[in-house]
Amino acid sequence: MRGCSNLHKTQDKNLYFRSTRSEKEMVLASEAIIKGIASDGGLYVPESFPKFEKSLLELSSFDYRELSFYILKKFFTDIEWADLKACIGKAYDEKFDNPLIVPLVEKKGFFFMELYHGPTLSFKDMALSILPHLLQVSTLKRGIKKEIVILTATSGDTGKAALEAFSNVEGTIIIAFYPKGGVSKIQERQMITQEGKNTFVIGVEGNFDDAQQGVKEIFSDQEIPRVLGDRYIFSSANSINIGRLFPQLIYYFYSYLNLLKTGNIKEGENINVVVPTGNFGNILASYYAKRIGLPINKLICSSNENNVLYYFIRSGVYDMRRNLKVSLSPSMDILVSSNLERLLYELCHHDPGIVRNLTEKLKREGKYEVLPWMKEGLKDFYSGFATDAQTLEAIGDAYRNLGYLIDPHTAVAYYVYKNYVQDTKDNTKTIIASTASPFKFPTTVLKAIGGKVDSGDEFSNLERLAEISSLPVPKNINDLSKKKVIHNLVCKKQEMKSLVLEILKNPDDFKS
Ligand SMILES: *Cc1c(COP(=O)(O)O)cnc(C)c1O
Repeated sequence: MRGCSNLHKTQDKNLYFRSTRSEKEMVLASEAIIKGIASDGGLYVPESFPKFEKSLLELSSFDYRELSFYILKKFFTDIEWADLKACIGKAYDEKFDNPLIVPLVEKKGFFFMELYHGPTLSFKDMALSILPHLLQVSTLKRGIKKEIVILTATSGDTGKAALEAFSNVEGTIIIAFYPKGGVSKIQERQMITQEGKNTFVIGVEGNFDDAQQGVKEIFSDQEIPRVLGDRYIFSSANSINIGRLFPQLIYYFYSYLNLLKTGNIKEGENINVVVPTGNFGNILASYYAKRIGLPINKLICSSNENNVLYYFIRSGVYDMRRNLKVSLSPSMDILVSSNLERLLYELCHHDPGIVRNLTEKLKREGKYEVLPWMKEGLKDFYSGFATDAQTLEAIGDAYRNLGYLIDPHTAVAYYVYKNYVQDTKDNTKTIIASTASPFKFPTTVLKAIGGKVDSGDEFSNLERLAEISSLPVPKNINDLSKKKVIHNLVCKKQEMKSLVLEILKNPDDFKS
């Protein structure tokens, strides 16, 4: 590589990140990626939105990796270009089962942006595939020699996507806790068969909140660093990390460019996007894409019956004082959407005092209302929701009328979009974010399209779904029932910490 003049090049102008909650901090991307969350508990937000020199037409010849580089170098300005390119190359490669990485599928005028071609069949792969590599170059860049320990509690999709992403990445160890009996058969199987010398998967006797609580306690524990010394640095890989957020902008641009290339839109023409929303990460990425110039008209936020965001977007009132409902679209079962804090920051034109007040109010009273003038910015959004019955109806509708199989999360978006069109008569071309493969939720999908459901056994439902739809089972779950179980640890919530200590004292021994 000698003689390559670009090797150590970074963006000429640095972009700083600040906290949503105070003006104290100002950090570059590598630091924000390592820390995950600001010292005051706020989220890192870009100080300003970068501009693109290239026109959309010029960008339309880029493939997924080239476009990733063009976009990410504007945000991660202190990561050297050669490193960033290497991260992108390792992230978006053959582990995606489609060479386009994110294909845009048209069915009778509906455009489905399939974000589920990664190794775990959910859209979490889009960002988690690159995060470990960004973390690795960030720690190197900052001269940190410690090993990175990723601790996560998962209710399903995130845990497996993180395990897969961190598996065998040098300098990292990942420990994932899941509620034993609280995830689907397929999800559990995906996790306990995880390969990789640095992966640990542990079932917790209890529900998701128990596992989550246990992980939080470990993060704030004082004894752990004393016992382990400074060999490790803990991180969480959760969706508020900027290393997960900004890679999610890429596919909005990419899909827009796809529409442009295929002559479905003209340069500069507006589109809408519909996003099945949980933690508000994916839709926030589309909002940021709009802010840096992607021509988007409406951002259509779709929820299931945990529809706190639906009311928020319509009224400016966020009210989480209710019970969480377990729905058919489990990855959207959330009452506190953490990334919403970043939207608040934009709505109040970057006034951290206002954001801090609102978040404190939420903690104290379970509710807040934004200031009247902040509601202006909510006009970029439209919101709707689907009940479980409507979700099933939407899967059946797409199957019968479009000849297309969709998963329950995508179905929520499809349902809300159809209502939107009825409601507004808006015929702007629209991209529907398809966030999971239908084969990840075979029982629900099979039931929705009128197939016979073998109640207990998800694996036989998987076979039947493939048979009825004449589609192949995606290769990443096809051999799942035959894969060797590698992880069989189960513990009580009170034992989580001692188990983590035991693992970290000697990870290699623990494994063999
Ligand atoms: C995580 C997830 C979502 C929600 O995305 P957010 O970024 O949390 O809003 C939707 N669908 C699927 C399948 C997911 O895994």
